[in-house]
Amino acid sequence: MNAITNHLPTAELQALDAAHHMHPFTANDELAEKGARIITRASGITLTDSEGNEILDAMAGLWCVNIGYGRDELADVAARQMRELPYYNTFFMTTHVPVIALAKKIAELAPGDLNHVFFAGSGSEANDTNIRMVRHYWAQKGKPTKSIIISRNNAYHGSSVGSGSLGGMSAMHAQGGLPIPDIHHIEQPHWWAEGGDMEPEAFGLLRAQELEKAILELGEDRVAAFIAEPIQGAGGVIVPPASYWPEIQRICDKYEILLIADEVICGFGRTGNWFGSQTMGIRPDIMTIAKGLSSGYAPIGGSIVNDEVAAVIGSGEFNHGYTYSGHPVAAAVALENLRILEEEGIIDHVRDVAGPYLKEKWEALADHPLVGEAKIVGMMGSIALVPNKDSRAPFAEAGNAGFICRERCFANNLVMRHVGDRMIISPPLVITTDEIDVLISRARSALDEAYAELQKRDLLK
Ligand SMILES: *Cc1c(COP(=O)(O)O)cnc(C)c1O
Repeated sequence: MNAITNHLPTAELQALDAAHHMHPFTANDELAEKGARIITRASGITLTDSEGNEILDAMAGLWCVNIGYGRDELADVAARQMRELPYYNTFFMTTHVPVIALAKKIAELAPGDLNHVFFAGSGSEANDTNIRMVRHYWAQKGKPTKSIIISRNNAYHGSSVGSGSLGGMSAMHAQGGLPIPDIHHIEQPHWWAEGGDMEPEAFGLLRAQELEKAILELGEDRVAAFIAEPIQGAGGVIVPPASYWPEIQRICDKYEILLIADEVICGFGRTGNWFGSQTMGIRPDIMTIAKGLSSGYAPIGGSIVNDEVAAVIGSGEFNHGYTYSGHPVAAAVALENLRILEEEGIIDHVRDVAGPYLKEKWEALADHPLVGEAKIVGMMGSIALVPNKDSRAPFAEAGNAGFICRERCFANNLVMRHVGDRMIISPPLVITTDEIDVLISRARSALDEAYAELQKRDLLK
């Protein structure tokens, strides 16, 4: 135990936080009552809070700390870059060395002819770029009516006005006047929740064919692009049936529709390849990246763009950009992160060691009385909590079981998130098999305790 002691007592910090800090995706009145958890430091896969608790972070922060916490190399690179050139912009025909090196490296890692990067400060910003880029692309090609972007219900593409509109989260659309015009949502390939009596593969095909139906209904001359996460993350780690993506690819190939893969979570090793598109066998025209690009050590995102789209966009001025597009410190940190991912064979570790080991242990959780299914690809997994193991019927009152289970996870020094009544994990990619044993053992304790509490409160229905 080496709790930092040189800070105010936890209760005072919590009071100041509640008084002055408005949190994202948080009810601030509830926060004031309970007090926020204060994380003071982290190393490897372990967080330390202001009370000295050591917590296994099975979410890698927000799906981003792929190389784990506490890597001095990134701190050193950041300090060096800040001294040399802390900031310069990339507008108006200027550039700098870190952004050149990073763009070249990303082009090398990305599949096919995805050879060009437009940088942003986050995944949300990158998806806002994508909205403007695909619409401008078709306008430049003399087809300005192709402006509709098709996305999916329960997708997550960010929180800005544009990216929140692309996303399919109804709770987000309910606030602030989303979605913007010309965004169309189709249903998600979520067999567990929505598949009814269908076989998963038939259901996957049906949900993919909704894209074709939408294109035909809206008119091919109206549709610019389709955007999707290779595996939905914030929606609950929803792994589509194997039939889904090949059919989506066929449809995108058949019609003149750009395919945008939102790789913000799946990218940079999480699924056992550099990109989720490789794991799912798709050929996107544009990829959204952020999170694992810098392992969260610096805020940076971007759009990786293929030769054709880049040529069309580059044939005139694209009136778009962010002050921090390609920020030199963030770029240098991201580059160092990619070096570590590559040179330490971390993606091989996911594919060959940690991934298969975690898969075996994770899927075995399905024997627990509270667990209906356990799904996992690489280092992103989910379990569905159910009141009755013999059916896929949901709880009468959604969300209680997930919330209680998450509280029991915290009590067992484990960060596991809940999305409704699905529990999800996305641990740092460097997690060892011993650490996976600890993760699973804490998850089992949390499930046992949640089950007991649900029984006691008569909520198992
Ligand atoms: C997190 C996320 C985003 C948004 O990224 P921010 O950096 O939070 O703006 C976009 N797409 C997906 C798939 C994400 O998980």
